[in-house]
Amino acid sequence: MTENDGVVIVGGGIVGIATAYYLGRKGIRSTIIERDSVGSHASGFAYGGLSPTGETGASGQLTPGAQLTNEGMRLHRELSQSVPEESGINIEYRERPSVALTFTDEEVRAAKERLATFQAPEGCEVEWLDASQAWSIEPRISDQIHGAVYTVGQADVEPYRLVLALAQVVENQGSIIRHGEVTGLERDGDRVTGVVLGDEVVACETVVLAAGPWSGAVSSWIGSPIEISPLKGQILRLRAPGRPFECSLGWEGHYATTKPDGLLWTGTTEEEAGFDENPTPEARDAIMATLLKMAPSLTDAQLVQQTACLRPVASDGELIMGQAPGLRGAYLATGTGRKGILLSPAVGRVTADLITTGDAGMDIAAFSPTRFAR
Ligand SMILES: Cc1cc2nc3c(=O)[nH]c(=O)nc-3n(C[C@H](O)[C@H](O)[C@H](O)COP(=O)(O)OP(=O)(O)OC[C@H]3O[C@@H](n4cnc5c(N)ncnc54)[C@H](O)[C@@H]3O)c2cc1C
Repeated sequence: MTENDGVVIVGGGIVGIATAYYLGRKGIRSTIIERDSVGSHASGFAYGGLSPTGETGASGQLTPGAQLTNEGMRLHRELSQSVPEESGINIEYRERPSVALTFTDEEVRAAKERLATFQAPEGCEVEWLDASQAWSIEPRISDQIHGAVYTVGQADVEPYRLVLALAQVVENQGSIIRHGEVTGLERDGDRVTGVVLGDEVVACETVVLAAGPWSGAVSSWIGSPIEISPLKGQILRLRAPGRPFECSLGWEGHYATTKPDGLLWTGTTEEEAGFDENPTPEARDAIMATLLKMAPSLTDAQLVQQTACLRPVASDGELIMGQAPGLRGAYLATGTGRKGILLSPAVGRVTADLITTGDAGMDIAAFSPTRFAR
């Protein structure tokens, strides 16, 4: 065996690091190759909300995506117990309720319809609040709401700290994090034998391609299309007057809460802007306007930091997980979209199981990388 037990992981975001972590728990050391630094893109600058929502398929069963989010939540609860001690890093995991607001009759109807078929993940409880009940939980909520969906059992983490903590544990397990840009794969027939890193070839029997929104580049490496693109999102961190928010406010994909750093984090946007990761004044103004819609008294909140990063989104919106078509030993792990922090432990564990046993332990056929080859 080589010093990396034959496994290379391309990408030091939360998905690559989580995969290394679950391989490490099976005694397998990896070499993780990251071209910038660990957690320096979406994985380090996400909001860090862990919000599993059960989705029911036509058969009344949970969809594969919902199964994976539930598993992600279960594993985050486990990690919140073990990782701070193993790494010496506080990942700022907190369970706290969320209050999803509605402002129109149509939004009320949609929320109640969803509640009627909702399968609350284990550890979560969901109920409808009328407006006065919502104001009793958080009086700064707008007086324009028609009601809200209240969820307990959700959580949040500080995503950058989580990536760093997992990376620390991964190194303790004997894995190596290397700096550099992978530009291709070496193969012998239909088997991967190495990754190309500058002038060097790092030998491997297994490669995990976890390059986030840049995963489209691997299409030419594996000789099969992977349809994925970046969806930009921005977040503001604000110094807000008054006491901290003890719940997470939400409305139509927007959110706000006070984080352990004392700042109010709020977002977000969904922008098709290629690989541009620069914050913009337009996004700042749009996010502020939405925050004031949810909590109008926050007009005096001061901007401390604005961040922008890119979500990896497949052309059909599903995850991309499993063996690369026609190339044994190569696996993809991406397409986590808006839920990559929540999903990453599940994606990492399933990928580690696939590599070591050939069995994902759940139905991941819908996520197969082969689906883009037409
Ligand atoms: C504004 C915003 C808010 C979000 N909020 C949440 C949230 O509250 N909850 C949640 O669950 N999710 C959230 N997400 C989603 C989550 O951040 C992403 O789904 C997740 O971080 C994707 O992780 P990743 O490891 O796949 O990608 P990335 O973090 O992008 O990591 C991929 C890494 O691969 C490296 N790389 C790429 N190509 C190469 C190469 N050729 N060689 C070497 N290295 C390479 C990159 O440098 C990068 O570091 C949010 C996203 C955004 C944008």
